Parts: sequence; structure tokens; C-alpha cells
Amino acid sequence: MTAIKVENLEKDYGKVKALKGISFEVEEGEIFGLIGPNGAGKSTTLKILATLLIPTGGRAEVYGHDVVSEADEVRKLISYLPEEAGAYKNLTGYEYLEFMAKLYSKTGKSVEEMLKLGIEIAGLGERIHDKVATYSKGMTRKLLLARALMVIPKLAILDEPASGLDIVNAYAIRQTIKRFARDEGVTFLISSHNMLEVEFLCDRVALINKGIIIDIGTPKELKEKYNAENLEEVFM
Ligand code: ATP
Repeated sequence: MTAIKVENLEKDYGKVKALKGISFEVEEGEIFGLIGPNGAGKSTTLKILATLLIPTGGRAEVYGHDVVSEADEVRKLISYLPEEAGAYKNLTGYEYLEFMAKLYSKTGKSVEEMLKLGIEIAGLGERIHDKVATYSKGMTRKLLLARALMVIPKLAILDEPASGLDIVNAYAIRQTIKRFARDEGVTFLISSHNMLEVEFLCDRVALINKGIIIDIGTPKELKEKYNAENLEEVFM
């Protein structure tokens, strides 16, 4: 089943053409990476799919639902983790997940089950009972990932999920993503400018630069095609 279908998607911010007609499709259960340098249009693409931005042209569907005309349907299927996300600093990690689980319980899932899963994903041990304000960046990001995945969404849209983190926490986050794709069939759309990350994580990757998709393939295919040791060289 097709999880994401993007056709000739365009987005202008005033005179800035952030997306110049991109197209790609993602199958259910795939981990799909959007990779490119700063300003390539990655976050813009993710925000459109998360129903937070209206495209200027073209269209995008999530599990057959148009992200503009059927935004409510799309929102029931997705979790979105923005790049600069934060959690409520005055709550403990536990209180934060409990609060979120109660919000999400409107979807019909049990608060207890979501909370249990969230605590397990966060992997913070006893620190789950400390205030978020005392967490490192990596701990906060794991808590946010737990929030995003405890509902077991059909599609998780993650903007630079492991960027800027220490290797231990970055590894934990990547392992969680892989596990949820494999065991729960969650589809992932991930943006990154870390080539090693996408090589490790993604089934397929779209190379994006200046609002245009240059190529799509498995990390291995792209490395061979561009005769590059790692994907970073493709943009040089
Ligand atoms: P980064 O890794 O730096 O977040 P990105 O690939 O996610 O880069 P976008 O954030 O999608 O890129 O930005 C694409 C282009 O659109 C850039 O030129 C950026 O400056 C511009 N842009 C993004 N948001 C806005 C906005 N709200 N107003 C004006 N221009 C914007």
C-alpha cells in the first residue's frame, strides 16, 4: 500500500521558491529519507505532509487522503516531530507522557497502554520521574520520540530526529525507528543532512537540493551511481 504520494509539489514563501515541483512515493512500512543541505526544502516538505503548511502547487496524499482537503483524516494517521520541538519543562517525563497519552486517548487507544509503551521507548529509567528541565538534549529527544510513537501511528514524520545528539542517544533513536518499522509496520519519513545516518537507517532516500529532487534510490544504489564513498560527496 502507498503511504505517501507527492506529485509536483510546490511551495513559495513570497519570492522564495522552497519547493519547485517535487514528486516521490513511499510504501507502507518503509523508512524513507529526505536528505540534502540546509535550505533544500526538507522541513517544508515534512510540514506540508503534516498538514501544517498549504502547498502553492501540486498535491500530496497520506494513505490516500489529500493533505489539504482531508487534513483531519491525515492527522489521525500521523505523528510529527518538528526539528525544534521541546517538551514541557516543568513536568516530569512521566507526567509529560501521561498528559500526551490522555490527549491521544480520544483516538480510542488506552492511556495505560500508551503510557507503558511511551516509558519503554523513552528508555530513561528512573530519570522518567525527574523534571524535563533537567534532561540532556538526547534525553529530551528520546522523550519526544516516545510521545510520537506511543500511539503507533501509521506514518511518523521526523525532522532531523537524531541530529546534534551524542552517539549513544542517536543510536538509541535509530534503533527505535528501525524496530517500529519492522515490528509495527510504521512508515517513517525522515529528514537528515547526516549521510551516515540515512545509510544506516533508510530503505530508500531522496536527494533534495534547492527545492528539486535530484534522485531517489537505496543508499547503496545512489552510492554506486554517483561513485561516491558516502552520500555526502554527491552534493559536493
Ligand atoms: P534546514 O536543514 O536548514 O532546516 P531544509 O532543507 O529543511 O533546511 P526548509 O526549511 O524547508 O529547508 O527551507 C527551504 C527554503 O525556504 C529556504 O531557502 C528557507 O530559507 C526558506 N524558508 C523556509 N521557511 C520560510 C519562511 N517561513 N519564510 C520564508 N522563507 C522560508
